[in-house]
Amino acid sequence: MEQERTNRNCPLWGTDTCARLNMRACRSCPANDKDARECDDIRSDVDTLYSFLPEEGVAALFAGEECTLCRGERKGKRESYGLFDMGHADPRDRKKKGLNLFRKKIYGFVIPLQFGACRDCRRRFQLIGWLPMLTAILILGAALLAVAQEPVAQSLRNVWRGLPLLVMAMAAVLSYLVGKALTKVLRARFNRVTFMDLRDHPLVQRMIALGWESLVEDRYPQPVFTRKRLGYGVGTAAPAAAEEKNQR
Ligand SMILES: [Zn+2]
Repeated sequence: MEQERTNRNCPLWGTDTCARLNMRACRSCPANDKDARECDDIRSDVDTLYSFLPEEGVAALFAGEECTLCRGERKGKRESYGLFDMGHADPRDRKKKGLNLFRKKIYGFVIPLQFGACRDCRRRFQLIGWLPMLTAILILGAALLAVAQEPVAQSLRNVWRGLPLLVMAMAAVLSYLVGKALTKVLRARFNRVTFMDLRDHPLVQRMIALGWESLVEDRYPQPVFTRKRLGYGVGTAAPAAAEEKNQR
């Protein structure tokens, strides 16, 4: 991965903070063109964020060749990354805020978690994500095909004029319920081999204990899968030893 950290005049150049910010280039860095005092603020922000992280950091999620979404001893081979953002309130903000009853939750810090994901784990999440839509298409499609047959529609109308419409409405409700039930059953089954609830993941659990939470309020937040992981920004720096292997 090309890095152009060339500004040796920067007060942060070559420091821990520089490594933690992990910017592609000095010109895209928040410390770019800042004076020493502003750089101190940046350093303090980064230090605060890191003080909320588990000691081992988050790089272990993506640095190895193995899937970190697999449960148990046997891990699949990493072939993509599941992205999941977590946020942390900045305790220093409390002083500034005052009464903010109607203010939406604001996070002082956000960090991307990048789970190395094997093909099976990715497919399990994707299937769960598509399941409500698939059941709706199947059940509604079947109902529509049936009702669209004139003899069927006619015999329904003979009972009551609005019955064909009612059948479609019931199919919609049914597809919703079936989708929900199927999702629940499949998720429980997948959950034996994959961390389908990311909050079960040991590292995420440690982060939750330290005050982090998911940015989305969904009970089961879905990671977003990508072939290539984020290479720049806070929380994306690979451990030095794994760097070369990882960045092919
Ligand atoms: Zn896996």
